[in-house]
Amino acid sequence: MTSSSGNLFFKQNSQCPLCNDVNGEYVGKVEKIWDETFAVCWCHSCELFFLSPPPLERDINALYADHYWPQKNLRDVAKTFMRTMRVCDQVAYISSCLGEIVNKNILEVGSADARFVGAFSSCNNVKALEPSFRYARYAHRKYGVQLCKDNFFSLQGKWDIILMSHVLEHFSDPRAAMEQAYNLLTDHGYVFVEVPHSPLPDEVAALELSHYLNTAHIVNFRVKSLELLLQTTGFSIHSLVRSAYNLHGLPLSGRKRLKAVLLGAMTPCLGDIPCLLRYIMSVFLGRRKPFCLLPLDASYDNFGDNMRVLVQKNAS
Ligand SMILES: [Zn+2]
Repeated sequence: MTSSSGNLFFKQNSQCPLCNDVNGEYVGKVEKIWDETFAVCWCHSCELFFLSPPPLERDINALYADHYWPQKNLRDVAKTFMRTMRVCDQVAYISSCLGEIVNKNILEVGSADARFVGAFSSCNNVKALEPSFRYARYAHRKYGVQLCKDNFFSLQGKWDIILMSHVLEHFSDPRAAMEQAYNLLTDHGYVFVEVPHSPLPDEVAALELSHYLNTAHIVNFRVKSLELLLQTTGFSIHSLVRSAYNLHGLPLSGRKRLKAVLLGAMTPCLGDIPCLLRYIMSVFLGRRKPFCLLPLDASYDNFGDNMRVLVQKNAS
């Protein structure tokens, strides 16, 4: 359906892959990530953003296998710091919901550098899937974690907890991904999911929306679409929160740039350094929690606005 010449495939009305509403509205495009350019549609009904049609599974996998590895530049310094802080926060969140995680079988899908799954390395059976060879090599060297390239959809076995941090938005069919997660869980097992929280199309300027959408994400969620996906694939929501970088007390004028720097979306310039250092030092000295919670219906908080959810498998 997409043009091999790189032209944008465009349909006026596209069907939502989540709720099947046929009035998807064209709101942006994804370009210069794959060879083809893809139209991004937005569903008025469930508020899901989706590529219509999505890239081929083969091309999605090739992107991560061949072009995804840890960088060594200034942009990655802040990003690495925030990833470490995020893992601490995610582990604390899971523990606050489920208590201490011991004697469990854990599966992580899309482990990147294995920082997250590494926090559960004392558990019984830990398996981590990562298509990027370079990330797998990095994780083995740095954390001693053995990542494997097994295809998630071909996997067999049962796990008590499945971790999907900033992964679900990269699947061409997130419904199929959650159905496979369901199949791989023990009775009453849990899935932890974290994904970016997206703005409404009219909530941000057109240029900001086009930048937000032009990523390797195949879908982008809001609370409504995430809840719908999880509840219609056999799960009950145990906990759902929104979190953002905790920049209270920092100058208002620099906050948006600082969020971009912390996300790794922007290389810090000299003017960002005082704010960045102030944030990092206050986190290290324990005066500031790196993240704060937002009401589920709060307006879009820009870079770093995430939804975090723990769902439990319903009885089959
Ligand atoms: Zn929909």
